[in-house]
Amino acid sequence: MSKGTINVAVENIFPLIKKFLYSDHEIFLRELISNATDATLKLKHLTSIGEAKVEYGNPMIEVKIDKEKKQLRIIDQGIGMTQDEVEKYINEIAFSGAEEFLEKYKDKKGEDAGIIGHFGLGFYSAFMVAEKVEIITKSYKDEPAVHWECDGSPEYKITKAKKTKRGTEIILHIAEDSTEFLEKSKITELLVKYNKFMPIPIKFGTITETLPKPEGAKEEDKAPTKEVDNIINNPNPAWTKQPTELEDKDYKSFYRELYPMQFDEPLFNIHLNVDYPFNLTGILYFPKMTNDMNMQKDKIQLYQNQVFVTDNVEGIVPEFLTMLRGVIDSPDIPLNVSRSYLQADGAVKKIASYITRKVADKLKSLFNSNREDFESKWNDIKIVIEYGMLSEEKFFEKAQDFVLYPTVDGKFYTFSELKEKIKVTQTDKDDKLVILYASNKEEQHSYIESAKEKGYEVLLLDSPIVSHLIQKLESTEENVSFARVDGDHIDNLIKKEDTAISKLSDEEKETLKTFLTEVIPSEKFAVQLEAMDSNASPFIITEPEFMRRMKEMQQSGGGGGMFGMGQMPE
Ligand code: ADP
Ligand code: MG
Repeated sequence: MSKGTINVAVENIFPLIKKFLYSDHEIFLRELISNATDATLKLKHLTSIGEAKVEYGNPMIEVKIDKEKKQLRIIDQGIGMTQDEVEKYINEIAFSGAEEFLEKYKDKKGEDAGIIGHFGLGFYSAFMVAEKVEIITKSYKDEPAVHWECDGSPEYKITKAKKTKRGTEIILHIAEDSTEFLEKSKITELLVKYNKFMPIPIKFGTITETLPKPEGAKEEDKAPTKEVDNIINNPNPAWTKQPTELEDKDYKSFYRELYPMQFDEPLFNIHLNVDYPFNLTGILYFPKMTNDMNMQKDKIQLYQNQVFVTDNVEGIVPEFLTMLRGVIDSPDIPLNVSRSYLQADGAVKKIASYITRKVADKLKSLFNSNREDFESKWNDIKIVIEYGMLSEEKFFEKAQDFVLYPTVDGKFYTFSELKEKIKVTQTDKDDKLVILYASNKEEQHSYIESAKEKGYEVLLLDSPIVSHLIQKLESTEENVSFARVDGDHIDNLIKKEDTAISKLSDEEKETLKTFLTEVIPSEKFAVQLEAMDSNASPFIITEPEFMRRMKEMQQSGGGGGMFGMGQMPE
């Protein structure tokens, strides 16, 4: 037996670890299973190159609860450790990592608590929930097994162990304030949250499987059952495969795997796969969107080497794409920094701009390959596209190839098709194209009808951010202005030949106008009598364009919020 003192400057490290990592105690299990996975993958590698002359087999990782003894155990069949390795990797290296961590974050309690949780203290995070930790390990090398024990003081104890099977067993003696981690339901919840797609099978208990009844069994005979391992993870999730290996149905079933409570089918997906200049894989899905922004319950999940990290991808994925769903897996995203640093990080910027480009490319190819289908999806995807156009300049440029402008009659134009369509009929006296649009088909019905009768095209632009989008388009497109169909600009259009004959005499019109202007506040509305010439409405009351836009901008938060934060990819 040997005894030693862990050499750290901080007198007693464990109370500090507990305190600092308070917000995220549960990550200890992710860390220990990550270590077990690493140990197994290392063995796989060493056997494949012939350096470890042992049978790799079909190793799994097992998690076990012993409620009576208040123990939680994590058992793997990986490379294991020799005594020297325990001294080195557990006592020296792991501790120096912990020490460095504490040095760095000593004075920052609170403000970065969420981030610290993701820092991953590795092995020592076990002490967040355990009052004593034991390691029983046997290396794949021909050396005796080792038993390491530490109760949270800087002292540890090493003895020989009897273990004969290769691998490592970590025994946590769960502390009084952490007994929730002895509950089967809690551990299941954590395994599903963090380890659902890890690459080595993870067993947690058994389940009873019902077998088919034998031939000739009677109606009342019970079907036979058998106990099978309860494997909680899928070690080969879709995003780790090549796009060529996957069919549409595979993407859909992976969506269901990711969001078991989500019953809508996704509209389409984007497979991300790049290894230079950064490493990133993933699958993003466009869900059906509604105008309701509160539906954001199922979010994009961030993984590192198949280990769940977070579903808060703010600062990593461009903001307009956070409305999508799916998975991103990248070991190149630094997580031990705050979100604001993250946005300034070079690799992260490149990742954001890569994702933006892939999404734009996908939309373009969908538009080109099947326009009809793209049009049918427009209502569900337009919010993302419109937000993207407003917040990311690069996306705005690319979107010109596929962004659609629907009319009140259900036709869809690209911007250039629209300009071509209206160039003879809808210009004003300065020869500017005037694009008419409605924001509500029912409320503006009579205005729409009247405009259509005059041969105008009327767009239906009904997103919550439409006034921002219009401003953006007016500022980038020369010689184009937008006018709402019930606005006063419609008067300035150079009309086609007017064939309608007025049903009122000039005198009658004058009387009516005087009457109407008396009852309607003239600073807010204008009475339009020309419309009396059409069959649709006797007269039309309009609100000046600028007044209306001002009101709308105020209502939608005047350009702050969503767009204030957009980061520009390079
Ligand atoms: P990291 O995983 O980042 O290296 P940890 O603190 O999690 O840091 O682990 C420290 C080291 O201890 C590992 O690098 C590894 O060498 C060793 N180790 C931890 N758990 C195991 C295990 N289950 N099997 C073999 N070695 C392990
Ligand atoms: Mg680790």
